[in-house]
Amino acid sequence: LRAAHTGADRADRATVEQALDPRTRMILLQLINRGIVSEINGCVSTGKEANVYHAVLYPSGSDGASEPQPIHRAIKVYKTAILVFKDRERYVTGDFRLQKSHPKKNHRAMVRLWAEKELRNLKRLIAGGVPAPDPIMLKSHVLVMSFVGNSRGWPAPRLKDVDWASEGIEDIGTTLRRLYMDLFSYVRILWGSCKLVHADLSEYNLLYFDGKLWVIDVSQSVEMNHPKSLEFLRMDLKNVTSYFQRNGVDTLSEKRVFEWVTKPGGTTKMDAMKDELEAQFAVRDALREKGEDDEDDEVWRQQFIPQNLEQVFDVERDAEKVGHGEGSDLVYRNLLADDAEGGVPLPRGNGEKGPSEGEEDSDEEGSER
Ligand code: ADP
Ligand code: MG
Repeated sequence: LRAAHTGADRADRATVEQALDPRTRMILLQLINRGIVSEINGCVSTGKEANVYHAVLYPSGSDGASEPQPIHRAIKVYKTAILVFKDRERYVTGDFRLQKSHPKKNHRAMVRLWAEKELRNLKRLIAGGVPAPDPIMLKSHVLVMSFVGNSRGWPAPRLKDVDWASEGIEDIGTTLRRLYMDLFSYVRILWGSCKLVHADLSEYNLLYFDGKLWVIDVSQSVEMNHPKSLEFLRMDLKNVTSYFQRNGVDTLSEKRVFEWVTKPGGTTKMDAMKDELEAQFAVRDALREKGEDDEDDEVWRQQFIPQNLEQVFDVERDAEKVGHGEGSDLVYRNLLADDAEGGVPLPRGNGEKGPSEGEEDSDEEGSER
């Protein structure tokens, strides 16, 4: 699909066209006709849920003095095959922006919804100052965004695939530590400013470009008041901590970072956040010296507390279990042991929804999992 013939070969073109249904082809042709892009090249990525294509816009109306630089773009085409999106429903249920319009029966509308979510979430990331692709246009299940990659149209590698030596990075350790600190600052901006949890954060959904990590793939990201947002946040922190650990970076415990990220009213200025993270290392080291290091993430993951009762799978069944002296497998078992009176405490600052409200809602929204 192209307006002008430059660069890419026939094979590319065949690949692009093969995979596309008539509706999608029509939308892509519209993009060309409206001058959003001039040509659409091969796939940057073929995924389970979407394909991403590289496209170029050749700006017209140059004054003749200098060749206008081509502008590279990425086009994410969500797959509309029926089975693909089924398991994503857990992300939508409880997302309060989408509850009213959640079109259970209408699959195409569902896919459009994911594309729209990606657009809105990318906008929030950009507004918060997190490096991310800038969304340019959305039409149905097709999202055009800025291209993260070099001026010759090479896409940036995923963090997972970065070959530090060939990037010309000499002190890999220092670079990785800086990226680690930056990344957790982004996570805190996501939480504190964008009011979002990425919910699929890992070395697969981070690109390395221009010395920075770029956050991508945010169609499944959830609002901070989503019933599982803290659980998703915990998983995000686990994934990225594990990547940096495996690559030799001295990491803070997930528990410590979690508490720092969700601290109400914390700063979202990059420099200040970096200082705070350094301070967290200092606190940890001081504790270690005294032999009081209690940062066992294994234990913490198991103790992890649901933020409200919507996270409880089935209140009645669970209550019965406890009544029978069972229930040791329940997610809130720790509370049963040491605070029978206090109800389920809400971790840090997100406490608008008390346990009693949750209980009333629970058979409506709380039983997916
Ligand atoms: P999914 O994982 O759902 O297939 P992603 O949004 O993660 O979709 O995109 C898949 C891949 O496409 C990414 O890993 C990345 O390599 C590439 N990609 C996505 N968006 C861009 C972009 N804006 N610029 C460059 N490459 C991109
Ligand atoms: Mg991805």
